[in-house]
Amino acid sequence: CLNRVSGTRLAIGPAVNVPAPPTLRGARKHDVTICGAGFAGSVLARQFAEESGKRVLLVDRRDHIAGNAFDSPDEAGIRVHRYGPHVFHTDSDEVFAWLGRFTEWRPYEHRVMARVGDMTVPMPINRTTLNAVHGLDMRTEAEARTFLARIAPPVPEIRTARDAMVKAVGTDLYERFLQGSSRKRWGLDPSLLDPSAASGVTARTDADDRRFTDRHQAMPRDGYTRMFERMLDHPGIEVALGTDFHDLGAADTGRLTVYTGPIDAYFGHRFGALPYRSLRFRHETLDRPQFQQAGVVAFPAEDVPWSRIVEHKHLTGQIHARTTITHEYPADDGDPFYPVPTPENLALFRRYDALAAAEPDVIFAGRLAGYRWCSMDRVVAQALALHGRLDQRLAAPGAM
Ligand code: FAD
Repeated sequence: CLNRVSGTRLAIGPAVNVPAPPTLRGARKHDVTICGAGFAGSVLARQFAEESGKRVLLVDRRDHIAGNAFDSPDEAGIRVHRYGPHVFHTDSDEVFAWLGRFTEWRPYEHRVMARVGDMTVPMPINRTTLNAVHGLDMRTEAEARTFLARIAPPVPEIRTARDAMVKAVGTDLYERFLQGSSRKRWGLDPSLLDPSAASGVTARTDADDRRFTDRHQAMPRDGYTRMFERMLDHPGIEVALGTDFHDLGAADTGRLTVYTGPIDAYFGHRFGALPYRSLRFRHETLDRPQFQQAGVVAFPAEDVPWSRIVEHKHLTGQIHARTTITHEYPADDGDPFYPVPTPENLALFRRYDALAAAEPDVIFAGRLAGYRWCSMDRVVAQALALHGRLDQRLAAPGAM
């Protein structure tokens, strides 16, 4: 096959953007073609190459690996999470151990504060938040539970994200902290969103101010990109960056395809585009070692144009005389970050999902193919399980 595809071969090593031959000359020499070098695609690439002995072509249209977890140093040498802060946390020993083959871990417990008016309080809402907002001095979980039962009476039927949020924290805290931030994130009021948009919303009765409570909470010591470089460093894996999957010809693809891009794009948006919200990032390096007291400070108020400020050094643990912060501005256009879970959009997704189920020799994986926000560990767990199922199929005589 002489299909010409603009692409950059990745040389595994410290540099990620390696100028290289701009041509793929047919990938029939590969058994498996994978679209997308994020967690879903890269975990599957490693498993197919290492465990199944397959030759894998991994393409990504971006000029880097690691998907949205991509991090890289800025001009000051401070490592920045380019697509928003990515904090690793999991309850899965298997996922933690599997990724641990490609990185050392730095223990890190993430903390998020929310600023409303002149008050800065812990998020998720906990006893400290309740005391600060309501001018109380509750010392025990029992006191906080009684108080919460008073301000958050039962909601008889959960039909929307608003119902689920009000059930968790009551109307007052919902209006102060959740309604504005949800409207900013999705561009829609929570009363128009599916209850799944409220997952993770909670009010704690203790004073635990960590964002996550998983058993394993840690960051890759040398960053995500380095972890991915090691994961993809296998003789059975070829990586082509700057290469759009949709530009590959039939003869460029292996017998099996794994697609981790947007599901509607795979089918040419034939039923219409699935809506996403995005973010615009404004990075800024400051001449001081620290800017704010936590890795993330959220701004729920709708008259503040950014939704949060990230200070990267909290996440990376880097020691540096300067610091880089990122303002995040919710936007309609840009990379597809947050699926908008309205009942209509979920119904539209199900139509695409039905097409995907009938597509021969193509496996759909990852958050874009599933049109749902998913944490990194769940995507890794899904990829490992998927490989386990496919491995048996591939091992059948004459399968490939
Ligand atoms: P992605 O990382 O999005 O990778 C998909 C890849 O496919 C992309 O690189 C894309 O360029 C490529 N692609 C798409 N279409 C094509 C095409 N046609 N041709 C070639 N390549 C294509 N999770 C956590 O656990 N903790 C966090 O703190 C966290 N923070 C997040 C913050 C933000 C702002 C966002 C948006 C997500 C966050 N996540 C977090 C979720 C995390 O990003 C995902 O779980 C993870 O990225 C999913 O991996 P993936 O491989 O499915 O998708």
